Amino acid sequence: MVTEEFTILLYHGVSRSVHRGIENCSRKHVSAEHFEAQMRFLATMGRVAALGDLLADCEKGLPAGGRVAVTFDDGFENNYSVAFPILRRHGVPATFFLSTGFIGSSRVFWVDKLEYLLNEAAVNAFESAVLGREFLLASLERRAAALREIKGALKRQPALVDDTIAELEALAEAPLRYDYPDYRMMDWHQVREMHRSGLCEFGAHTIDHTILSHVPHAEKVLQVRQSKATLEGELGTPVTLFAYPEGQADHFDDEVVEVVRQAGFVAAVAAIFGCNTSATSRYHLHRNMVEFVAPFDNCVRGLSEIRG
Ligand SMILES: [Zn+2]
Repeated sequence: MVTEEFTILLYHGVSRSVHRGIENCSRKHVSAEHFEAQMRFLATMGRVAALGDLLADCEKGLPAGGRVAVTFDDGFENNYSVAFPILRRHGVPATFFLSTGFIGSSRVFWVDKLEYLLNEAAVNAFESAVLGREFLLASLERRAAALREIKGALKRQPALVDDTIAELEALAEAPLRYDYPDYRMMDWHQVREMHRSGLCEFGAHTIDHTILSHVPHAEKVLQVRQSKATLEGELGTPVTLFAYPEGQADHFDDEVVEVVRQAGFVAAVAAIFGCNTSATSRYHLHRNMVEFVAPFDNCVRGLSEIRG
């Protein structure tokens, strides 16, 4: 079966952590066993390509149909310690989009702080004055549900993030460590080692994981251009691929696309599920978030049809 479609997979992390509560209940991190099986499948199919190469082939009019690119967002340490050895073992190239202000730092993403705080909270309910409602925490299921609801509310109202986190931090009885392994970020030594392997390419994902449609023009320009310049300085190579933080339709508009294009990026990826063809705008590329949004088989459906 001939297909013109190519697929870009989106991962955040690959984990070997043992969970004792609601850690990773959203399946943001795929287990090492699953990831190994997925990479083995892609390697066996012989259809996997680095995103940059795949797009370059499209540009030259070469067929890209049926090919798959593996990408990672944010820059978690497990990309280096867990995913990279698996990628190497199977010879699968991947593209890593980094929020440069987190690399080599102990900063923790607010969604991870929220998960940690709801996991650790020694109370059966969280009365939020900021969000104007109560969340029940009497079981792991309720804590996971509270996490989903609060995350959803704060993604719609990002101005309330800091105050809501502060409310939860005030509830904590133990010192706040935010020390779950899957929250840790890579450092620049790790990034450079991956880059030197020739298997990993790097793209920009802003400095602070800023939702670009939500900030003034000057901040958009700073976040886009500075993250590119930092990566190019650390890697000594041009950085031409960008991923929009959050990456849903309301997180990047025409103005954001223009800022990204004018900064010198040749392509940018969203987090909206779907396949791409040579006709898809290079600044609106779809990606399929594995396990978080859909099972792996659904994410690579085009590929399975070829196999069939
Ligand atoms: Zn991200």
